Amino acid sequence: MKQLYAASLLVVLNGASAATQTVDCGRLLDVKSGTWRERVSIVIENGTIKSVGPMTPAPANPGNIDLSGKSCLPGLIDMHVHLTSETAPVVDGYRDRLTADPADLAFRSVKYAERTLMAGFTTVRDLGAQDGLNVSLKRAIAAGAVPGPRMFTAGKSIATTGGHADPTNNLSHFLSEKVGTPGPQEGVIDSPEEGRQAVRARYKEGADLIKITATGGVLSQAANGQNSQYTEDELKAVVSTAKDYGFRVAAHAHGAEGMKRALRAGVDSIEHGTLMDDETVALFKKTGHWYVPTISAGRYVADKAKDPNYYSVLVRPKAAAIGPQLQATFARAHKAGVKIAFGTDAGVFPHGDNAKEFGYMVEAGMTPLEAIRAATIHAASLLDQPQRLGMIAPGFAADIVAVDGDPLRDVKVLEQVTFVMKDGVVYKK
Ligand SMILES: [Zn+2]
Repeated sequence: MKQLYAASLLVVLNGASAATQTVDCGRLLDVKSGTWRERVSIVIENGTIKSVGPMTPAPANPGNIDLSGKSCLPGLIDMHVHLTSETAPVVDGYRDRLTADPADLAFRSVKYAERTLMAGFTTVRDLGAQDGLNVSLKRAIAAGAVPGPRMFTAGKSIATTGGHADPTNNLSHFLSEKVGTPGPQEGVIDSPEEGRQAVRARYKEGADLIKITATGGVLSQAANGQNSQYTEDELKAVVSTAKDYGFRVAAHAHGAEGMKRALRAGVDSIEHGTLMDDETVALFKKTGHWYVPTISAGRYVADKAKDPNYYSVLVRPKAAAIGPQLQATFARAHKAGVKIAFGTDAGVFPHGDNAKEFGYMVEAGMTPLEAIRAATIHAASLLDQPQRLGMIAPGFAADIVAVDGDPLRDVKVLEQVTFVMKDGVVYKK
């Protein structure tokens, strides 16, 4: 397998991608209708799809990209990743906390972004990092400096004091004194007023959306993995300010009460949603908000919790209790008709394994087509990009992946993407 991104990047920098390109697909999935179109040519201009029509009869134009033996799909979209970090045993995490500079973490993130793109994910939503790393990574990718997926980023997740995403949780008194108390600028709030400040700080930081941690979480150094961590007036202040800036709001939540508060306040998506009850399901349906399940993260942490040395003593019991429940929650929500967008929480498990989520979704009751729609048109809708992303159609970004075999029969073939194009640039062939 050749990886052509280096040459392709030069093409981008030289402005030569303006040239028309044609991709010939053996068949192409129309994700809306759920049907295959046989022998299709996609014409691309300036990184945008110009037309999709019948393939020119053989012998095909030798300049065309030949995927005539493959199944083509729109580039995949993961609505929940953390591209600037990756799971590691607790001792390594503590060492990093003491010794790693933001630049160290930034350089590591380059390979995470590349792995994600090579796995067929041409767009991601990055839901939280410190020190503006995800915003800088987004800029580097957009400028063609490093290969990676198109990023929509939350900048720093907004938490309340001691909450999931308070960067100073469980530090020694000595370190706490050195680090100081984080405020809205650092993404920690304790009032509606500070909520507004934190949203505006994200705008200033260069974020594309807002992420809040509405309840406790599994991997933070804190005792409770599900308690409500925002008052309703704090949530409302964050959501209404976010709307002023054109931001959508994603809310991390495991406990039902925190989920309900967040849904009532008007967040656009709930992430994880592990302990959702029937009332929460009804609220999802009433509000039409999205559920982003992240089954992959649940399964990974449940597995790692068996190793006594992987997580800290605070984290391990939460991982063991919450992780195994996610897939069943997904099954219930799907059956009840909750709107679901594909998201994995990659970073909680190794980047590049994102497509395993498809298998978990199908195992829990989705058809392969429904799972693919969650990672294409539905994700694009939650991103507010329904005219640009998630389909192979005129006017859409030229984000195309190809696989051998039929993902509608065996969704796991999506774990072996053999061709990746983003914005008309070939990264894997
Ligand atoms: Zn996350």
